[in-house]
Amino acid sequence: MLDVGQGDAILIRADGHSALIDAGPRDANVEEQLRTLGVEHLDLVVSTHPHADHIGRMAQVLQDFDVGLYVDNGMSHTTKNYANVMEAVKTTEVDYQVAVKGMSFPFGDEAVFTVLFPGSSQISGTRSDINSNSVVLRLDHGASSFLFMGDAEAPTEVALLKANIPAVDVLKVAHHGSGHSSTGAFLAKLHPHSALISCGEGNRYHHPYDEALERLQHVGTLVYRTDRSGNLRAISDGVGVEILEGTIAELDSVVVVPWPEPVAVVDTDPEEPPEPDETTGSPSVDGPKLKRRDFFDAAFERRPHASKAEIRSEWRAYKKAWRLAQKLERKAAKALDNATVEGEPEP
Ligand SMILES: [Zn+2]
Repeated sequence: MLDVGQGDAILIRADGHSALIDAGPRDANVEEQLRTLGVEHLDLVVSTHPHADHIGRMAQVLQDFDVGLYVDNGMSHTTKNYANVMEAVKTTEVDYQVAVKGMSFPFGDEAVFTVLFPGSSQISGTRSDINSNSVVLRLDHGASSFLFMGDAEAPTEVALLKANIPAVDVLKVAHHGSGHSSTGAFLAKLHPHSALISCGEGNRYHHPYDEALERLQHVGTLVYRTDRSGNLRAISDGVGVEILEGTIAELDSVVVVPWPEPVAVVDTDPEEPPEPDETTGSPSVDGPKLKRRDFFDAAFERRPHASKAEIRSEWRAYKKAWRLAQKLERKAAKALDNATVEGEPEP
């Protein structure tokens, strides 16, 4: 996820293939970032919807890079920006298709994009029909999955729920974390372990909304934001996904970084160990936190006939329990802090 300020631009790479979902706002340096990352050819370029924070640099991208296929949601817009993009589609003679649910685009040897939305007829009468008809794409790579929501809103989520959308590992949060998207029911169904939000620092839309962040937290999702971390990178090995944060230069010097491990809470008073949590029934988190690979090894040794999916869901539960334990620790520490400060007003 490229840091483009208030907008979206997501580069996906596999086996030497590249795809781009959206091209940021007009003032973003999308082409420069792509060149820095060594991109020359883009097999697939998607405009999720024709708003300026998604197609700002699209005409330039189509002109500067060798593009295999350009896809959009088929909606026109009255802006000069949109006219320029369609002009670029014409002059570059790029292959162009309107995305419709059910289409799929093989990506490299092991990955595939599938269009989940819009269907053959678009939805109308919503708060923003352009947002609500965003192209929603799923990317599957082995057992790892990603969902790209564009700026889809609640009506889109209802349609996807009706179509029984499956769970996903990594969610590109809809609409920069707006509260009009990421409904509780939708997130409960997706149950993503990580969520990526693209938004500008101190943006005037106040993205992401607190309520969207709370709903993500409620389903135990780890949230990463470009306004806090700059570029975000998710690396899939076909079994799990690792998320890296930081600028391009920092990321390029990184080879492998494990999952952001919950930090074990150091018991500063060993004579008074924390009470075990009776209410959650969570697995023991007293021992050192296992690395993902060790967890998988141990689980397969214990249950050699278990499927990868089963072990992955155990891993998720394990991590969730760790996060919960941390949260409880923090809460307890905070309560202790508050108790010792006399006359401190409640926040
Ligand atoms: Zn947007």
